[in-house]
Amino acid sequence: MTPADFQRFYGFFAEAMLLATPEGRIVAANPAVSILIKHSASELIGAELRALAADSPEKVARLLALFSRSGQFMPGALAFKNGDAAGVRCRVEGCALRYPEGLRLLLRLQAKEDAMTRFRSLDERIALLNREILERKQAESALDAQREWLRTTLASIGDGVIATDSAGVISFMNLVAESLTGWSAADAVGQPIGRVFHMVNEYTREPLESPVAEVQRRGVTVGLANHTVLIARDGSERAIADSGAPIYDAGGRMLGVVMVFRDVTQHRRNEAVLRETNKSLQKSNENLRQFAYAVAHDLKEPMRMISLYSQLLAKAYEGRIGGGEEEMFLRQVIGGASRMDELLEGLLAFITAGDLIHEKLEMVDLNEVVAKAVLNLQSMARETAAEVTWDVLPRIRGHAGSLVNVFQNLVANGLKYRRENERPRVNIAASRREREWLVVVEDNGIGIEPEYFQRIFGVFKRLHPAKYPGTGIGLALCAQIVEGHGGTIWVESEPGRGSRFCLTIPD
Ligand code: ADP
Repeated sequence: MTPADFQRFYGFFAEAMLLATPEGRIVAANPAVSILIKHSASELIGAELRALAADSPEKVARLLALFSRSGQFMPGALAFKNGDAAGVRCRVEGCALRYPEGLRLLLRLQAKEDAMTRFRSLDERIALLNREILERKQAESALDAQREWLRTTLASIGDGVIATDSAGVISFMNLVAESLTGWSAADAVGQPIGRVFHMVNEYTREPLESPVAEVQRRGVTVGLANHTVLIARDGSERAIADSGAPIYDAGGRMLGVVMVFRDVTQHRRNEAVLRETNKSLQKSNENLRQFAYAVAHDLKEPMRMISLYSQLLAKAYEGRIGGGEEEMFLRQVIGGASRMDELLEGLLAFITAGDLIHEKLEMVDLNEVVAKAVLNLQSMARETAAEVTWDVLPRIRGHAGSLVNVFQNLVANGLKYRRENERPRVNIAASRREREWLVVVEDNGIGIEPEYFQRIFGVFKRLHPAKYPGTGIGLALCAQIVEGHGGTIWVESEPGRGSRFCLTIPD
Protein backbone atom coordinates (compact mmCIF):
# COMPACT_ATOMS: atom_id res chain seq x y z
CA MET A 1 0.00 0.00 0.00
CA THR A 2 1.45 3.33 -1.07
CA PRO A 3 1.24 6.34 1.25
CA ALA A 4 -1.23 7.85 -1.25
CA ASP A 5 -3.46 4.75 -1.07
CA PHE A 6 -3.25 4.92 2.72
CA GLN A 7 -4.41 8.52 2.74
CA ARG A 8 -7.23 7.66 0.39
CA PHE A 9 -8.42 4.93 2.79
CA TYR A 10 -7.74 6.40 6.17
CA GLY A 11 -7.40 10.12 5.55
CA PHE A 12 -10.93 10.88 6.74
CA PHE A 13 -10.93 8.52 9.70
CA ALA A 14 -11.54 10.19 13.06
CA GLU A 15 -9.44 7.42 14.57
CA ALA A 16 -5.65 7.84 14.46
CA MET A 17 -4.15 5.24 12.06
CA LEU A 18 -0.60 4.82 10.88
CA LEU A 19 1.35 2.40 8.70
CA ALA A 20 4.89 1.38 9.68
CA THR A 21 7.59 -1.09 8.68
CA PRO A 22 8.10 -4.08 11.01
CA GLU A 23 11.11 -2.20 12.36
CA GLY A 24 8.93 0.77 13.32
CA ARG A 25 9.59 3.33 10.60
CA ILE A 26 6.44 5.30 9.81
CA VAL A 27 5.43 5.03 6.15
CA ALA A 28 2.09 6.85 6.34
CA ALA A 29 -0.10 8.45 8.99
CA ASN A 30 -3.55 10.03 8.76
CA PRO A 31 -4.24 13.58 10.07
CA ALA A 32 -5.86 12.17 13.26
CA VAL A 33 -2.35 10.95 14.32
CA SER A 34 -0.94 14.46 13.97
CA ILE A 35 -3.78 15.80 16.11
CA LEU A 36 -3.29 13.10 18.73
CA ILE A 37 0.45 13.20 19.23
CA LYS A 38 0.95 16.74 17.97
CA HIS A 39 3.51 16.12 15.18
CA SER A 40 3.03 17.39 11.65
CA ALA A 41 2.73 14.87 8.79
CA SER A 42 6.21 15.74 7.55
CA GLU A 43 7.66 15.10 11.03
CA LEU A 44 5.90 11.75 11.15
CA ILE A 45 6.65 10.28 7.72
CA GLY A 46 9.98 8.45 7.83
CA ALA A 47 10.26 8.88 11.61
CA GLU A 48 11.06 5.95 13.87
CA LEU A 49 8.41 5.00 16.42
CA ARG A 50 11.28 4.49 18.85
CA ALA A 51 12.20 8.14 18.48
CA LEU A 52 8.64 9.39 18.92
CA ALA A 53 7.89 7.18 21.92
CA ALA A 54 8.30 8.35 25.51
CA ASP A 55 8.59 4.68 26.52
CA SER A 56 11.84 2.73 26.34
CA PRO A 57 13.08 1.43 22.95
CA GLU A 58 12.78 -2.14 24.36
CA LYS A 59 9.10 -1.66 25.00
CA VAL A 60 8.64 -0.31 21.49
CA ALA A 61 10.54 -3.28 20.05
CA ARG A 62 8.41 -5.73 22.07
CA LEU A 63 5.20 -4.15 20.75
CA LEU A 64 6.47 -4.19 17.14
CA ALA A 65 7.41 -7.84 17.47
CA LEU A 66 3.93 -8.62 18.90
CA PHE A 67 2.13 -6.84 16.06
CA SER A 68 4.40 -8.36 13.39
CA ARG A 69 3.30 -11.85 14.42
CA SER A 70 -0.45 -11.21 14.25
CA GLY A 71 -2.85 -10.88 11.33
CA GLN A 72 -5.43 -9.48 13.73
CA PHE A 73 -5.29 -6.36 15.88
CA MET A 74 -3.41 -7.00 19.12
CA PRO A 75 -3.77 -4.59 22.06
CA GLY A 76 -0.92 -2.69 23.65
CA ALA A 77 -0.05 0.70 25.19
CA LEU A 78 2.52 3.34 24.33
CA ALA A 79 3.31 6.86 25.45
CA PHE A 80 4.26 9.43 22.80
CA LYS A 81 6.35 12.54 23.32
CA ASN A 82 4.48 15.61 22.28
CA GLY A 83 6.52 18.38 23.80
CA ASP A 84 4.80 18.52 27.15
CA ALA A 85 6.26 16.57 30.02
CA ALA A 86 3.51 14.03 30.51
CA GLY A 87 3.34 12.98 26.86
CA VAL A 88 0.25 11.28 25.46
CA ARG A 89 -0.54 7.88 26.84
CA CYS A 90 -2.22 5.80 24.18
CA ARG A 91 -3.83 2.50 23.69
CA VAL A 92 -2.20 1.04 20.62
CA GLU A 93 -3.59 -1.81 18.59
CA GLY A 94 -1.62 -3.22 15.72
CA CYS A 95 -1.54 -6.02 13.21
CA ALA A 96 0.69 -7.15 10.31
CA LEU A 97 -0.47 -6.84 6.71
CA ARG A 98 1.37 -8.22 3.73
CA TYR A 99 1.67 -5.94 0.69
CA PRO A 100 3.62 -6.42 -2.59
CA GLU A 101 6.23 -4.04 -1.21
CA GLY A 102 6.60 -6.18 1.94
CA LEU A 103 5.26 -6.64 5.49
CA ARG A 104 3.65 -3.56 7.02
CA LEU A 105 2.19 -2.85 10.44
CA LEU A 106 -1.15 -1.04 10.68
CA LEU A 107 -1.49 0.77 14.00
CA ARG A 108 -4.57 2.25 15.61
CA LEU A 109 -3.94 4.83 18.37
CA GLN A 110 -6.36 6.10 20.98
CA ALA A 111 -5.63 8.46 23.87
CA LYS A 112 -5.96 6.59 27.18
CA GLU A 113 -8.48 9.10 28.68
CA ASP A 114 -10.56 8.68 25.56
CA ALA A 115 -10.43 4.96 25.93
CA MET A 116 -11.44 5.31 29.58
CA THR A 117 -14.53 7.34 28.71
CA ARG A 118 -15.42 4.80 26.06
CA PHE A 119 -15.02 2.01 28.56
CA ARG A 120 -17.06 3.97 31.05
CA SER A 121 -19.89 4.40 28.57
CA LEU A 122 -19.61 0.70 27.89
CA ASP A 123 -20.06 0.07 31.62
CA GLU A 124 -23.11 2.27 31.62
CA ARG A 125 -24.56 0.41 28.67
CA ILE A 126 -23.98 -2.90 30.41
CA ALA A 127 -25.72 -1.57 33.54
CA LEU A 128 -28.61 -0.37 31.37
CA LEU A 129 -28.81 -3.75 29.71
CA ASN A 130 -28.88 -5.44 33.12
CA ARG A 131 -31.65 -3.13 34.21
CA GLU A 132 -33.61 -3.92 31.06
CA ILE A 133 -33.15 -7.64 31.65
CA LEU A 134 -34.34 -7.25 35.24
CA GLU A 135 -37.36 -5.21 34.17
CA ARG A 136 -38.22 -7.74 31.48
CA LYS A 137 -38.00 -10.53 34.06
CA GLN A 138 -40.27 -8.60 36.42
CA ALA A 139 -42.74 -7.95 33.60
CA GLU A 140 -42.63 -11.62 32.69
CA SER A 141 -43.40 -12.71 36.22
CA ALA A 142 -46.22 -10.12 36.44
CA LEU A 143 -47.53 -11.53 33.17
CA ASP A 144 -47.27 -15.05 34.57
CA ALA A 145 -49.25 -13.97 37.64
CA GLN A 146 -51.83 -12.30 35.42
CA ARG A 147 -52.06 -15.41 33.26
CA GLU A 148 -52.56 -17.55 36.35
CA TRP A 149 -55.22 -15.19 37.66
CA LEU A 150 -57.03 -15.28 34.32
CA ARG A 151 -56.79 -19.06 34.19
CA THR A 152 -58.25 -19.38 37.72
CA THR A 153 -61.02 -16.90 36.91
CA LEU A 154 -61.94 -18.67 33.69
CA ALA A 155 -61.77 -22.02 35.44
CA SER A 156 -64.12 -20.95 38.24
CA ILE A 157 -66.61 -18.98 36.13
CA GLY A 158 -70.20 -20.31 36.04
CA ASP A 159 -70.29 -20.47 32.23
CA GLY A 160 -68.50 -22.88 29.95
CA VAL A 161 -65.28 -21.39 28.57
CA ILE A 162 -63.20 -22.74 25.70
CA ALA A 163 -60.19 -20.90 24.31
CA THR A 164 -58.53 -21.72 21.02
CA ASP A 165 -55.37 -20.56 19.30
CA SER A 166 -55.53 -18.64 16.05
CA ALA A 167 -55.90 -21.89 14.08
CA GLY A 168 -58.97 -22.93 16.09
CA VAL A 169 -57.13 -25.57 18.12
CA ILE A 170 -58.35 -25.80 21.72
CA SER A 171 -55.84 -24.48 24.26
CA PHE A 172 -58.04 -24.20 27.35
CA MET A 173 -61.32 -25.59 28.65
CA ASN A 174 -62.90 -25.03 32.06
CA LEU A 175 -64.88 -27.49 34.21
CA VAL A 176 -68.31 -26.23 33.11
CA ALA A 177 -67.28 -26.62 29.47
CA GLU A 178 -66.13 -30.15 30.28
CA SER A 179 -69.51 -31.08 31.73
CA LEU A 180 -71.49 -29.42 28.91
CA THR A 181 -69.51 -30.95 26.06
CA GLY A 182 -68.79 -34.28 27.77
CA TRP A 183 -65.10 -33.88 26.86
CA SER A 184 -62.34 -33.77 29.47
CA ALA A 185 -59.95 -30.87 29.12
CA ALA A 186 -57.10 -33.39 28.79
CA ASP A 187 -58.78 -34.94 25.72
CA ALA A 188 -60.00 -31.70 24.21
CA VAL A 189 -56.86 -29.56 24.44
CA GLY A 190 -54.98 -29.86 21.17
CA GLN A 191 -58.12 -30.85 19.23
CA PRO A 192 -59.64 -28.61 16.57
CA ILE A 193 -62.78 -26.91 17.96
CA GLY A 194 -64.97 -28.56 15.31
CA ARG A 195 -64.30 -32.02 16.79
CA VAL A 196 -65.40 -31.06 20.28
CA PHE A 197 -68.13 -28.50 19.79
CA HIS A 198 -71.07 -29.81 17.71
CA MET A 199 -74.11 -27.60 17.33
CA VAL A 200 -77.34 -27.97 15.38
CA ASN A 201 -80.45 -25.87 14.92
CA GLU A 202 -83.13 -27.00 17.35
CA TYR A 203 -85.82 -27.28 14.65
CA THR A 204 -84.07 -27.92 11.34
CA ARG A 205 -81.27 -30.08 12.85
CA GLU A 206 -78.90 -28.37 10.40
CA PRO A 207 -75.30 -28.39 11.72
CA LEU A 208 -74.19 -24.92 12.78
CA GLU A 209 -70.77 -23.34 12.44
CA SER A 210 -69.05 -22.79 15.80
CA PRO A 211 -68.64 -19.14 16.74
CA VAL A 212 -64.86 -19.64 16.65
CA ALA A 213 -64.84 -19.88 12.86
CA GLU A 214 -66.99 -16.79 12.54
CA VAL A 215 -64.80 -14.81 14.95
CA GLN A 216 -61.72 -15.88 12.97
CA ARG A 217 -63.35 -14.69 9.78
CA ARG A 218 -64.80 -11.42 11.05
CA GLY A 219 -62.40 -10.55 13.86
CA VAL A 220 -65.22 -9.31 16.11
CA THR A 221 -67.32 -10.66 19.00
CA VAL A 222 -70.24 -12.74 17.77
CA GLY A 223 -73.31 -14.17 19.50
CA LEU A 224 -75.01 -17.49 18.83
CA ALA A 225 -78.08 -17.77 16.67
CA ASN A 226 -81.30 -18.56 18.54
CA HIS A 227 -82.44 -22.14 19.01
CA THR A 228 -78.94 -23.56 19.15
CA VAL A 229 -78.50 -27.05 20.54
CA LEU A 230 -75.14 -28.43 21.67
CA ILE A 231 -74.60 -32.14 21.13
CA ALA A 232 -72.32 -33.54 23.82
CA ARG A 233 -69.77 -36.32 23.31
CA ASP A 234 -72.30 -38.91 24.57
CA GLY A 235 -75.00 -37.63 22.17
CA SER A 236 -77.05 -35.82 24.83
CA GLU A 237 -78.41 -32.43 23.82
CA ARG A 238 -78.82 -29.08 25.54
CA ALA A 239 -80.08 -25.70 24.42
CA ILE A 240 -77.21 -23.23 24.73
CA ALA A 241 -76.58 -19.55 24.42
CA ASP A 242 -73.09 -18.29 23.85
CA SER A 243 -70.72 -15.86 22.30
CA GLY A 244 -67.20 -15.88 20.91
CA ALA A 245 -64.68 -13.07 21.16
CA PRO A 246 -61.28 -12.61 19.51
CA ILE A 247 -58.12 -12.31 21.64
CA TYR A 248 -55.66 -9.79 20.27
CA ASP A 249 -52.08 -9.08 21.33
CA ALA A 250 -50.82 -5.55 21.88
CA GLY A 251 -49.80 -5.38 18.23
CA GLY A 252 -53.36 -6.14 17.07
CA ARG A 253 -52.56 -9.70 15.96
CA MET A 254 -55.35 -12.23 16.65
CA LEU A 255 -53.92 -14.81 19.07
CA GLY A 256 -57.06 -16.91 19.30
CA VAL A 257 -60.71 -16.98 20.26
CA VAL A 258 -62.46 -17.38 23.58
CA MET A 259 -65.93 -18.86 23.58
CA VAL A 260 -68.32 -18.52 26.53
CA PHE A 261 -71.53 -20.58 26.61
CA ARG A 262 -74.19 -21.75 29.03
CA ASP A 263 -76.96 -24.31 29.28
CA VAL A 264 -80.28 -22.52 28.72
CA THR A 265 -82.46 -25.64 28.55
CA GLN A 266 -84.23 -24.84 31.82
CA HIS A 267 -84.48 -21.19 30.87
CA ARG A 268 -86.12 -22.14 27.56
CA ARG A 269 -88.53 -24.47 29.36
CA ASN A 270 -89.43 -21.69 31.79
CA GLU A 271 -89.97 -19.33 28.88
CA ALA A 272 -92.31 -21.79 27.20
CA VAL A 273 -94.24 -22.32 30.46
CA LEU A 274 -94.42 -18.55 30.93
CA ARG A 275 -95.73 -18.10 27.39
CA GLU A 276 -98.41 -20.73 27.97
CA THR A 277 -99.37 -19.25 31.35
CA ASN A 278 -99.57 -15.82 29.79
CA LYS A 279 -101.78 -17.10 27.02
CA SER A 280 -104.19 -18.84 29.40
CA LEU A 281 -104.12 -15.79 31.70
CA GLN A 282 -105.06 -13.57 28.80
CA LYS A 283 -107.83 -15.97 27.88
CA SER A 284 -109.28 -16.12 31.39
CA ASN A 285 -108.90 -12.34 31.65
CA GLU A 286 -110.90 -11.96 28.49
CA ASN A 287 -113.53 -14.43 29.77
CA LEU A 288 -113.76 -12.48 33.00
CA ARG A 289 -114.09 -9.22 31.12
CA GLN A 290 -116.85 -10.60 28.97
CA PHE A 291 -118.58 -11.99 32.04
CA ALA A 292 -118.34 -8.65 33.88
CA TYR A 293 -119.61 -6.86 30.81
CA ALA A 294 -122.57 -9.26 30.46
CA VAL A 295 -123.45 -8.95 34.16
CA ALA A 296 -123.21 -5.15 34.16
CA HIS A 297 -125.11 -4.91 30.93
CA ASP A 298 -127.87 -7.36 31.95
CA LEU A 299 -128.26 -5.78 35.38
CA LYS A 300 -128.88 -2.39 33.85
CA GLU A 301 -132.31 -3.34 32.52
CA PRO A 302 -133.82 -4.63 35.83
CA MET A 303 -132.12 -1.69 37.58
CA ARG A 304 -133.85 0.72 35.28
CA MET A 305 -137.16 -1.06 36.04
CA ILE A 306 -136.64 -0.75 39.80
CA SER A 307 -135.71 2.89 39.41
CA LEU A 308 -138.66 3.67 37.12
CA TYR A 309 -141.32 1.80 39.10
CA SER A 310 -140.17 3.03 42.46
CA GLN A 311 -140.41 6.57 41.12
CA LEU A 312 -143.91 5.84 39.76
CA LEU A 313 -144.81 4.36 43.14
CA ALA A 314 -143.56 7.49 44.88
CA LYS A 315 -145.65 9.59 42.51
CA ALA A 316 -148.75 7.40 42.99
CA TYR A 317 -148.51 7.63 46.78
CA GLU A 318 -147.51 11.26 46.82
CA GLY A 319 -149.27 12.98 49.67
CA ARG A 320 -150.83 9.69 50.85
CA ILE A 321 -148.01 8.14 52.84
CA GLY A 322 -147.11 11.35 54.64
CA GLY A 323 -143.59 11.98 55.82
CA GLY A 324 -143.34 8.71 57.80
CA GLU A 325 -140.99 5.77 57.59
CA GLU A 326 -142.63 4.50 54.38
CA GLU A 327 -141.60 7.61 52.49
CA MET A 328 -138.05 7.28 53.77
CA PHE A 329 -137.98 3.62 52.63
CA LEU A 330 -139.16 4.63 49.19
CA ARG A 331 -136.54 7.38 48.96
CA GLN A 332 -133.86 4.88 49.90
CA VAL A 333 -135.01 2.51 47.16
CA ILE A 334 -135.00 5.30 44.56
CA GLY A 335 -131.58 6.56 45.72
CA GLY A 336 -130.08 3.05 45.83
CA ALA A 337 -131.40 2.25 42.37
CA SER A 338 -129.97 5.38 40.79
CA ARG A 339 -126.63 4.82 42.53
CA MET A 340 -126.56 1.23 41.28
CA ASP A 341 -127.28 2.57 37.81
CA GLU A 342 -124.31 4.94 38.08
CA LEU A 343 -122.05 2.10 39.23
CA LEU A 344 -123.10 -0.11 36.36
CA GLU A 345 -122.56 2.74 33.92
CA GLY A 346 -119.07 3.32 35.31
CA LEU A 347 -118.26 -0.37 35.23
CA LEU A 348 -119.34 -0.65 31.60
CA ALA A 349 -117.21 2.39 30.72
CA PHE A 350 -114.26 0.81 32.52
CA ILE A 351 -114.65 -2.57 30.80
CA THR A 352 -114.92 -1.09 27.31
CA ALA A 353 -112.26 1.63 27.72
CA GLY A 354 -109.41 -0.59 26.48
CA ASP A 355 -111.27 -1.58 23.29
CA LEU A 356 -111.99 2.03 22.41
CA ILE A 357 -108.33 3.10 22.39
CA HIS A 358 -107.19 0.45 19.98
CA GLU A 359 -110.05 1.38 17.68
CA LYS A 360 -108.62 4.67 16.50
CA LEU A 361 -105.33 6.31 17.43
CA GLU A 362 -104.69 9.70 15.82
CA MET A 363 -102.87 12.97 16.41
CA VAL A 364 -104.83 14.75 19.09
CA ASP A 365 -104.49 18.35 20.28
CA LEU A 366 -104.45 18.13 24.08
CA ASN A 367 -105.54 21.79 24.32
CA GLU A 368 -108.82 20.85 22.64
CA VAL A 369 -109.18 17.71 24.75
CA VAL A 370 -108.77 19.64 27.99
CA ALA A 371 -111.07 22.47 26.83
CA LYS A 372 -113.79 19.90 26.13
CA ALA A 373 -113.32 18.18 29.49
CA VAL A 374 -113.56 21.54 31.30
CA LEU A 375 -116.64 22.52 29.30
CA ASN A 376 -118.35 19.31 30.45
CA LEU A 377 -117.60 20.36 34.03
CA GLN A 378 -118.67 23.97 33.73
CA SER A 379 -121.67 23.79 36.07
CA MET A 380 -119.54 22.08 38.75
CA ALA A 381 -116.82 24.69 38.23
CA ARG A 382 -119.34 27.49 38.54
CA GLU A 383 -120.89 26.03 41.71
CA THR A 384 -117.49 25.76 43.38
CA ALA A 385 -116.17 29.06 41.95
CA ALA A 386 -113.21 26.99 40.70
CA GLU A 387 -110.28 28.25 38.69
CA VAL A 388 -109.22 25.74 36.06
CA THR A 389 -106.22 26.72 33.93
CA TRP A 390 -103.87 24.99 31.51
CA ASP A 391 -100.57 25.84 29.85
CA VAL A 392 -99.95 25.37 26.14
CA LEU A 393 -100.30 21.61 25.66
CA PRO A 394 -98.78 19.42 22.93
CA ARG A 395 -100.30 17.34 20.18
CA ILE A 396 -100.01 13.66 20.99
CA ARG A 397 -100.96 10.37 19.44
CA GLY A 398 -104.05 9.04 21.16
CA HIS A 399 -107.78 8.49 21.31
CA ALA A 400 -109.51 11.86 21.78
CA GLY A 401 -112.76 10.62 23.41
CA SER A 402 -110.93 8.53 26.01
CA LEU A 403 -108.51 11.34 26.81
CA VAL A 404 -111.42 13.76 27.40
CA ASN A 405 -112.66 11.17 29.90
CA VAL A 406 -109.25 11.11 31.66
CA PHE A 407 -109.00 14.90 32.09
CA GLN A 408 -112.67 15.20 33.01
CA ASN A 409 -112.18 12.69 35.83
CA LEU A 410 -108.95 14.27 37.08
CA VAL A 411 -110.26 17.85 36.98
CA ALA A 412 -113.59 16.79 38.56
CA ASN A 413 -111.68 15.13 41.40
CA GLY A 414 -109.62 18.28 41.85
CA LEU A 415 -112.84 20.25 42.32
CA LYS A 416 -114.59 17.58 44.35
CA TYR A 417 -111.81 16.90 46.86
CA ARG A 418 -111.28 20.60 47.61
CA ARG A 419 -110.38 22.09 50.95
CA GLU A 420 -113.03 23.90 52.95
CA ASN A 421 -112.91 27.70 52.67
CA GLU A 422 -110.42 27.48 49.83
CA ARG A 423 -111.16 28.33 46.23
CA PRO A 424 -110.38 25.16 44.23
CA ARG A 425 -107.62 25.60 41.67
CA VAL A 426 -106.57 23.05 39.06
CA ASN A 427 -103.77 23.55 36.56
CA ILE A 428 -102.70 21.27 33.72
CA ALA A 429 -99.13 21.46 32.38
CA ALA A 430 -97.02 19.32 30.05
CA SER A 431 -93.28 18.83 29.73
CA ARG A 432 -91.13 16.93 27.29
CA ARG A 433 -89.26 13.80 28.41
CA GLU A 434 -87.24 11.34 26.40
CA ARG A 435 -89.64 9.93 23.81
CA GLU A 436 -92.78 10.87 25.77
CA TRP A 437 -94.85 13.71 27.20
CA LEU A 438 -95.39 14.14 30.91
CA VAL A 439 -98.74 15.76 31.70
CA VAL A 440 -99.46 16.93 35.25
CA VAL A 441 -102.89 17.78 36.66
CA GLU A 442 -102.30 19.66 39.90
CA ASP A 443 -104.89 20.77 42.45
CA ASN A 444 -104.86 22.59 45.78
CA GLY A 445 -107.28 20.16 47.44
CA ILE A 446 -107.23 17.90 50.49
CA GLY A 447 -104.36 15.75 49.22
CA ILE A 448 -103.81 12.02 49.72
CA GLU A 449 -101.83 10.04 52.31
CA PRO A 450 -98.87 8.25 50.66
CA GLU A 451 -100.14 4.83 51.78
CA TYR A 452 -103.11 5.25 49.37
CA PHE A 453 -101.08 6.40 46.33
CA GLN A 454 -101.46 2.98 44.65
CA ARG A 455 -104.78 1.86 46.01
CA ILE A 456 -106.90 4.75 44.65
CA PHE A 457 -106.31 3.50 41.09
CA GLY A 458 -108.20 0.25 41.85
CA VAL A 459 -111.85 -0.26 40.86
CA PHE A 460 -114.34 0.91 43.56
CA LYS A 461 -111.47 2.06 45.81
CA ARG A 462 -112.58 5.23 47.66
CA LEU A 463 -111.06 6.95 50.66
CA HIS A 464 -114.01 9.03 51.90
CA PRO A 465 -117.15 7.11 50.86
CA ALA A 466 -119.47 8.90 53.27
CA LYS A 467 -118.29 12.45 52.81
CA TYR A 468 -118.00 12.71 49.01
CA PRO A 469 -120.26 11.26 46.30
CA GLY A 470 -118.69 8.98 43.70
CA THR A 471 -118.32 5.46 42.36
CA GLY A 472 -114.62 4.78 42.84
CA ILE A 473 -114.22 4.00 39.14
CA GLY A 474 -112.85 7.33 37.83
CA LEU A 475 -109.15 6.77 38.52
CA ALA A 476 -109.30 3.08 37.55
CA LEU A 477 -110.72 4.23 34.22
CA CYS A 478 -107.97 6.87 33.87
CA ALA A 479 -105.30 4.21 34.52
CA GLN A 480 -106.90 1.87 32.01
CA ILE A 481 -106.91 4.56 29.31
CA VAL A 482 -103.39 5.89 30.00
CA GLU A 483 -101.94 2.37 30.05
CA GLY A 484 -103.88 1.64 26.86
CA HIS A 485 -101.88 4.51 25.31
CA GLY A 486 -98.65 2.85 26.48
CA GLY A 487 -98.16 5.36 29.31
CA THR A 488 -98.26 5.30 33.11
CA ILE A 489 -100.15 7.27 35.74
CA TRP A 490 -99.27 8.00 39.36
CA VAL A 491 -99.98 10.51 42.05
CA GLU A 492 -97.73 12.72 44.16
CA SER A 493 -99.26 14.49 47.12
CA GLU A 494 -98.83 16.00 50.52
CA PRO A 495 -101.99 15.63 52.59
CA GLY A 496 -103.64 19.00 53.13
CA ARG A 497 -101.64 20.68 50.36
CA GLY A 498 -103.07 19.29 47.15
CA SER A 499 -102.29 16.49 44.68
CA ARG A 500 -100.37 16.13 41.42
CA PHE A 501 -101.69 13.45 39.08
CA CYS A 502 -98.90 12.69 36.60
CA LEU A 503 -99.35 10.76 33.40
CA THR A 504 -97.04 9.96 30.53
CA ILE A 505 -98.02 9.53 26.90
CA PRO A 506 -95.32 8.00 24.69
CA ASP A 507 -94.69 9.31 21.16
P1 ADP B 1 -114.41 8.69 43.11
O1 ADP B 1 -113.93 10.08 42.95
O2 ADP B 1 -115.62 8.41 42.31
O3 ADP B 1 -114.51 8.24 44.50
P2 ADP B 1 -111.94 7.98 41.85
O4 ADP B 1 -111.49 6.68 41.29
O5 ADP B 1 -111.97 9.14 40.94
O6 ADP B 1 -113.33 7.71 42.48
O7 ADP B 1 -111.00 8.31 43.05
C1 ADP B 1 -110.73 7.31 44.03
C2 ADP B 1 -110.45 7.97 45.35
O8 ADP B 1 -109.20 8.66 45.29
C3 ADP B 1 -111.45 9.00 45.75
O9 ADP B 1 -112.54 8.41 46.40
C4 ADP B 1 -110.66 9.92 46.64
O10 ADP B 1 -110.63 9.40 47.95
C5 ADP B 1 -109.26 9.85 46.08
N1 ADP B 1 -108.97 11.00 45.19
C6 ADP B 1 -109.07 11.03 43.86
N2 ADP B 1 -108.69 12.23 43.36
C7 ADP B 1 -108.34 12.98 44.42
C8 ADP B 1 -107.85 14.32 44.56
N3 ADP B 1 -107.65 15.12 43.50
N4 ADP B 1 -107.58 14.76 45.80
C9 ADP B 1 -107.76 13.96 46.88
N5 ADP B 1 -108.21 12.69 46.80
C10 ADP B 1 -108.51 12.20 45.59
